[in-house]
Amino acid sequence: MLGRLGHMRYTQFGKTGFRVSALGFGAMNLPGVPLDQAREALNYALDNGINYIDTAAGYRNSEEILGECISHRRSEFFLATKTAQRKYEDARSEIERSLSRMKTDYIDVIQIHYVNYPQEFNKVMEEDGAYRAALEAREAGKVRWIGITGHRPELLAKWISDGKFDQVLFHLSLVQPFAKDDLVPTATRLNMGKTAMKPLSGGFVQPVDKAIRYPYSQDVHTIISGMTSAAEVKQNLAAMEREVEPEERLELEALSAELGEHNCRRCNYCSCPLEIPIPDVMISSAVREKFGLLPRGAAFYEKHKSKILSCADYEPCKEKPLCEQKCPYHLPMQRTIQETAAHLGG
Ligand code: SF4
Ligand code: SF4
Repeated sequence: MLGRLGHMRYTQFGKTGFRVSALGFGAMNLPGVPLDQAREALNYALDNGINYIDTAAGYRNSEEILGECISHRRSEFFLATKTAQRKYEDARSEIERSLSRMKTDYIDVIQIHYVNYPQEFNKVMEEDGAYRAALEAREAGKVRWIGITGHRPELLAKWISDGKFDQVLFHLSLVQPFAKDDLVPTATRLNMGKTAMKPLSGGFVQPVDKAIRYPYSQDVHTIISGMTSAAEVKQNLAAMEREVEPEERLELEALSAELGEHNCRRCNYCSCPLEIPIPDVMISSAVREKFGLLPRGAAFYEKHKSKILSCADYEPCKEKPLCEQKCPYHLPMQRTIQETAAHLGG
């Protein structure tokens, strides 16, 4: 039996006035587990002080699971969902669908999902764009606040600077500390809600408690961790039982500077014709060099080994790597892939 835990930090979520828990429930992976397990995880989270639930229209039937499992407790949590639609009419109907799937008559924050390119942002903001649908939904009381998410922190910092968004969702983890540079200070200055995601960076960062304590030591309101069981909720909560003291913060910051040296933002501008998952290789390599091979990294390499080994012989990349021509950060991806291949015995 999992008992109730003690400590939870709450802070005012920017201008929303809502006091959010430092740990938020990421509902992205719930569609992969039995409904009863999802129900138990969500209710256990609410019973233990988590009051921020994050999902997206694009996370398979995650919104429906929330509607099924916790809509009867709607007043107990701040509900964040996302639309990846770019056009007004598509976003308008997707917001309506989210409301009905989640069995609620309001969404606390609707986030324009995964905006990574300037031309995409322009599309969202034009007259016929998704932003207008969010504004109209807010005027109609169906949405309370408008947010934005993406994987290019310096672009997000620019895009939020004219005050059109109330909240921003970004990566912040030991291996992805880049939001600290411009984005977090800009959002703080604008009194926006700051939501950090993927503290475990898809499982590459271990152990869980250290991984969570890094964003917990930073200037963010809530940290979304993807959880699928009450036991995982308990493990995540336990990592926040103690506040981070200055000495531990310095240690975590030094570690993040080291693990972030790969500089990959996961923006996915690169794409490999051999389907090598380049950002995952970049990030897992940094972790491997520091800590050796962790279970998630080992499983990942096993799955993608043959592709990774083929990089060196791929003719079109011999003169100029195709992936590197697309990376806005000019990173040496081919070298990292081939070092990984060497590690795998290629
Ligand atoms: S250099 Fe390697 S990883 Fe990059 S596009 Fe070519 S084959 Fe893919
Ligand atoms: S390697 Fe470059 S282009 Fe690819 S995801 Fe990372 S930062 Fe983006």
